[in-house]
Amino acid sequence: MTKTILITGGSRGIGRATAVLFARKGWNIALSFVGNQESADETCALCERAGVTGNAFARKCDVRDENSVIDFFNTVRDRFGAINGVVNNAGIVAPQSTLADMDIGRMKDVFDTNILGAYLVAREAARTLHSGTAIVNVSSMAAKLGSPGEYVDYAGSKGAIDTLTIGLAKELGPMGIRVNAVRPGIIDTEIHASVGRPERIAELGPNCPLGRPGDPEEVANSIYWLISKDASYVTGSILDVSGGR
Ligand code: NAP
Repeated sequence: MTKTILITGGSRGIGRATAVLFARKGWNIALSFVGNQESADETCALCERAGVTGNAFARKCDVRDENSVIDFFNTVRDRFGAINGVVNNAGIVAPQSTLADMDIGRMKDVFDTNILGAYLVAREAARTLHSGTAIVNVSSMAAKLGSPGEYVDYAGSKGAIDTLTIGLAKELGPMGIRVNAVRPGIIDTEIHASVGRPERIAELGPNCPLGRPGDPEEVANSIYWLISKDASYVTGSILDVSGGR
């Protein structure tokens, strides 16, 4: 039977690359977006073209909203039946700032999306998944580096994702459900331009040991491996996908 992957924030960037890769591997794709319907439809079209057997559909889902997350999971189950994997990917950054200069609204936006949103998605996954399935949370190297002078709020939100991964892996391990995370480094997506810093990719990418930024497809490959049976004895792990950064 065709397996189904649920991906939050699948309209662009790492989520899109992950959707297309799973489609190429023959999975059904259920992806969410928050505002960018056109990009989400484009990802579905790319999946349909890449797909071997599966189908793709996109649904609006704001991960900050509990009902929206529950509705997304219900819709995916209605459409495809069992869910075999969840990629907890939706996330935002905010403009470059020191903590001293941050206002509370910006910090709330980052924490609501990256922490509360990711926890709500992980909770629904915990309620929905069955033995032999897996979750991958998308953290960031920022969790280890702290992002001083850029966004320590974002870095802290990703530290919470690492901790969620460790705890939830222990809760769900006895049920045969694996939980892991990836920590991307500087990856060439629109997230940097979204806060007015498109040059961040060219500035910081060459400074990492591998001497270049990463492609979203390189993160997708790691996510796919962690969900796949090839990683059947891996849980509670956090994999740096950062070119050594
Ligand atoms: P991106 O290109 O900006 O895409 C972000 C995705 O998240 C979009 O699909 C967006 O939907 C969705 N999204 C944003 N807010 C949402 C919300 N409230 N509810 C539901 N979906 C929401 O970002 P990316 O670079 O691919 O990043 C994906 C993940 O990787 C994030 O968690 C990010 O923190 C992490 N990451 C990225 C990098 C990097 O260098 N790119 C490095 C480390 C970690 P719309 O299209 O509808 O706006």
